[in-house]
Amino acid sequence: MIVDFHCHSDCSDGLLSPKQLIKLAEQNKVQMLSITDHDTLDAYKQKISTPIKLISGVELSTTWNKIGVHVVGLNVDTKSESLLKTICAQKKIRLKRAEIISKRLEKCGLTNALETIKKTKKNHYIGRPDFAKLLVKEGVCTDPNQAFRKYLGAGKIGDVKNQWLELAEIISAIKQAQGIAVLAHPLYYKLTNSKLRRLLLDFKKLGGEGLEVVNGYQNKDKTDHLSKLCKEFNFKASIGSDFHCHNQWKKLGCDSQLIDSLQPVWSTF
Ligand code: AMP
Ligand code: MN
Ligand code: MN
Ligand code: MN
Repeated sequence: MIVDFHCHSDCSDGLLSPKQLIKLAEQNKVQMLSITDHDTLDAYKQKISTPIKLISGVELSTTWNKIGVHVVGLNVDTKSESLLKTICAQKKIRLKRAEIISKRLEKCGLTNALETIKKTKKNHYIGRPDFAKLLVKEGVCTDPNQAFRKYLGAGKIGDVKNQWLELAEIISAIKQAQGIAVLAHPLYYKLTNSKLRRLLLDFKKLGGEGLEVVNGYQNKDKTDHLSKLCKEFNFKASIGSDFHCHNQWKKLGCDSQLIDSLQPVWSTF
């Protein structure tokens, strides 16, 4: 079976509209799909008819021990007041953070970045990819990857720390919306093994139920490592492409066999 519980539409930093994304999922024979945009449920505003089983979802940025950690909320009630309030707070944080990033990038030769970005935005998401695009457009960087490497990635001038709501608050909002909280791309945070285990323990204690065992194309060692942790901590296993746009590293849809020996998160949907 082909499934995907982590991907982005143009309601956040993805390229395709929710409708186009679902069309592509149909072409790729995806049977279950969750569009998990950054800090927004806007993809679910429009009713789209499809044979695919759609599961509502969102990817929320959080802070755990001063480290930025992403949590995917799956099968959430998209009308939940508590979740919508949390998302509203996150959107405000995003905007404040964008103001800080914009100011900091002045030092790198980029003036009025935020104002320029706002003029061309069609959605409410403002994130580092927008600044990366502008750095390329203004000729400061050659491509978005370089923009992240030099200015926006971890530890660089445009990396603003400790902005997001705390992990506890985010998990609680997902639970209040009857959703399942899944820790997204656990190896992306580059934590030592012992720190990662502490994160998993805290995540579990706070009510987190799932672990993203597969995120996009990833080597077997990583999948084996995460599968072991998933079993040990008794999490449900989730898999997702983290698709933003088509390229050689990203394809929408994942083979569910990758997590054959684990309890899939979708068994309850
Ligand atoms: P933000 O939501 O503002 O924290 O931006 C994070 C987003 O930037 C991620 O969801 C990715 O889509 C994108 N991103 C992260 N690292 C890179 C990179 N090295 N090159 C291009 N895009 C990236
Ligand atoms: Mn993204
Ligand atoms: Mn993420
Ligand atoms: Mn993502």
